[in-house]
Amino acid sequence: MRITALAGGIGGARFLTGVRVARPDAEITVIGNTGDDITLHGLRICPDLDTVMYTLGGGISEERGWGREDESFVVSGELAAYGVGPSWFGLGDRDLATHLVRTQMIDAGYKLSDVVTALCDRWRPGVRLLPMSDDRVETHVIINDDQGRRAVHFQEWWLKLRASVPAEAILSVGAAESTPAPGVLDAIAAADVVLIGPSNPVVSIGTILSVPGIADALRVTLAPVIGISPIIGGAAVRGMADACLKAIGVETTARAVGAHYGGRHRDGETASAPERKGTSGGAERELGHGLLDGWLVDVVDADVAADPDAIPGATVKAVPLLMTDLEATVAIVEAALELAGV
Ligand code: GDP
Ligand code: CA
Repeated sequence: MRITALAGGIGGARFLTGVRVARPDAEITVIGNTGDDITLHGLRICPDLDTVMYTLGGGISEERGWGREDESFVVSGELAAYGVGPSWFGLGDRDLATHLVRTQMIDAGYKLSDVVTALCDRWRPGVRLLPMSDDRVETHVIINDDQGRRAVHFQEWWLKLRASVPAEAILSVGAAESTPAPGVLDAIAAADVVLIGPSNPVVSIGTILSVPGIADALRVTLAPVIGISPIIGGAAVRGMADACLKAIGVETTARAVGAHYGGRHRDGETASAPERKGTSGGAERELGHGLLDGWLVDVVDADVAADPDAIPGATVKAVPLLMTDLEATVAIVEAALELAGV
């Protein structure tokens, strides 16, 4: 069986541990978010891809959810002693080796997807990890604070400002000119099932969907597309996804996020792709992106599953969605595969 999953960082990676255990014989392809990527100290850093790679490769810090276990921060301390920041981005010594290898390879002319393959040769994550694009696509946030109206890198808004300043807009810079990385569209077209993991709907999944061609591939694939809600009982389980959803005018509820992704209307009612273009178009606001055959919500959101009109075109099912441990996570994956009928 071929499973293709869209994933961001911590939420996506945790979900993927369940996918791997639920279907150990499956060929699993992960399309990862690179919108969080940033260059610091001359090093290219890909936080979400690394979180997936370290988590599935057994090198993640379980406590933090990002970066390496048994980590030290000697280099960061030395940089701080020189007054060289930023201090808000954690860069451990072990982790730095990954960024050094990646930067060296990129400077030598390799594509990001080649770099990911090389890094995964060490970590053996048990999945084929693909960046959404080899092109540089970065999430920037428009804010208006005491320093005036300006755009900051997503990481500055998220880590330094802890999303405390409202985002006027969230932009996927470079997305319009980007193309999907090799293998991405094929992985969606040739899948037996596509899973949209419980990742941030705006700055993880939304960013992946901002790469031209990916959302269209999801709309036309013969594979069932099943989404797992990252929102439970009106709140992001961890993190500040509500601040991102607010910026795009979507309520922080499982119903609203499901409606934002939108049902696929396989019976032929699907609005044509051009009508759906743009992030604030009327058709999209009413029908969503037209991506989902199925949407899993938590049992506390059972009212969404009970309402046949909640997400027109998609079947909604309520199951426990807290990824408290591996067993609970595997059960979520099983529920998603059952909903997909595979
Ligand atoms: P990030 O890139 O590290 O922020 O990670 P992701 O974008 O992959 O996932 C972050 C999202 O995971 C958060 O917005 C949460 O809503 C969601 N999340 C975290 N833990 C859980 C959980 O146990 N269950 C569900 N359903 N969602 C979760
Ligand atoms: Ca992320």
